[in-house]
Amino acid sequence: MLKTDIQETWQETTSCPATCGSPAVCQGLDSCRAASRPGPIVPVLPVEDDAEDPQSKHFTSTRNACKLCTPLGACLAFRGVEGCIPFLHGSQGCSTYIRRYLISHFREPIDIASSNFHEESAIFGGGRNFTQGALNITRQYQPQLIGAATTCLAETIGEDLGQLIQDLKEKHGETAAAPIVHVSTASYRGTHMDGFHSAVRELVEQLAEKPDGEHRTSNEVNRRVALFPGMVSAADLRHLKEIFSDFNLPFTLLPDYSETMDGATWSEYEKLQSGGTPIVAIRALGSAQTSIEFGRTLADTETGGTVLQNKYAIPRRLLGLPMGIRESDIFFNALAEITGGEIPVKYQRERGRLVDSLIDGHKYAFEKRAIVFGEEDLVVGLTALLCEIGVAPALCASGGRSGKFEKCLREAAPELPEETLAKEGFDFAEIAEAAPELKPDFLIGSSKGYSIARRLNVPLIRVGFPIHDRIGGQRVLHLGYRGAQELYDRIVNALLEVKQETSTVGYTYL
Ligand code: SF4
Repeated sequence: MLKTDIQETWQETTSCPATCGSPAVCQGLDSCRAASRPGPIVPVLPVEDDAEDPQSKHFTSTRNACKLCTPLGACLAFRGVEGCIPFLHGSQGCSTYIRRYLISHFREPIDIASSNFHEESAIFGGGRNFTQGALNITRQYQPQLIGAATTCLAETIGEDLGQLIQDLKEKHGETAAAPIVHVSTASYRGTHMDGFHSAVRELVEQLAEKPDGEHRTSNEVNRRVALFPGMVSAADLRHLKEIFSDFNLPFTLLPDYSETMDGATWSEYEKLQSGGTPIVAIRALGSAQTSIEFGRTLADTETGGTVLQNKYAIPRRLLGLPMGIRESDIFFNALAEITGGEIPVKYQRERGRLVDSLIDGHKYAFEKRAIVFGEEDLVVGLTALLCEIGVAPALCASGGRSGKFEKCLREAAPELPEETLAKEGFDFAEIAEAAPELKPDFLIGSSKGYSIARRLNVPLIRVGFPIHDRIGGQRVLHLGYRGAQELYDRIVNALLEVKQETSTVGYTYL
């Protein structure tokens, strides 16, 4: 339960005239009918002890978290696998919340099954619900794969999905339910990005194998690159596929929700939208020539790339999200090195146009101040881009807690000002508290930052996930030179709009 200051104050006092008995629902003196009855009115007292201290009774762990639920990331990753349906082991409300969040960003339907815990399952375990759920899903959806993830409640009571799957097979036979990949995603232990990366890791761990002799002699399979892009937009996934095709480099993109979560209209309803990484391609990952993984903060994390490295000795290249010129250069150069060829002229021209536009817009972006927030690796990529275009990030904030956030920021953006605040484990309340003093010219992050931008009367550049108050969130391009170009144009145009709107004379020509 999050408590407002006034609720805290009422709790502190013992002489409240009200008899409602529940400070948690207190709306304050102005609206309190009980308080208008005769009796002493207690002044609002300042909170004296340190609310930042976890031992303080005023401490609230998070107020409006700058992160989302861990199984949400897992569900999205599972929908990036062909014929896979996400299945949450826990309360039904978790899948409803996650569906609502994904649908409102992607504007596509997504079914997420639930084992539907009730009081009995919360106390005695949800094994029976899990089995019944897996059999029902298999009958109704006929999926190629079930992606099972735990919710907070299932984790809290210690549910072991591996054991439940074993029990199901022993009781009903190996093939009674569709194959199941499972992942542990307690939301109180991480962010949606952690859930996403964990699901990808488990897909590789539980499905990838060293192909038989027939596959091993296939030149195409042996040249294949395993590409783990992280939680990027559908437009980013399509752009990555285009880049690999232009390099003539075979690849397996895992996951790939560019069609399942941003597809065309259907002539007939599809229970599970077509598209996604084929399961056969995930199985063949054991013979990939190399893996490329985006996310500087993943350096010491067990990921799909480390599974391939440890089990099959497949080299792992860990890169930052290719955002901005420098990070994109590293990515394109890596592809050129792998193929032994040149960067296609098309991308050399895109880079050239981007550099040219930076010169055109420099006077509008230079020395502007920004607050950047969101997933850690997205903030690192955005910060690299902002520093390149002359913007000074005043605050870089994330709800993630990798312990490497600031280090990664300064590696990706060496010109990041010394005074820039780099805050991991930050929430929106903390961003809102810090923002006025930082005097940003704009905010850049998800739509969850809108109320702060509105209060400060500065533009919010909507990127990443979720974008709930605009359409096209899934089509925002962040990656490569083309993505940097789109972001740059949006940033500069937002700044120009402010300048124009606040001009006393008004002008139509720059
Ligand atoms: S209870 Fe946990 S898993 Fe369920 S929606 Fe809330 S944070 Fe997510």
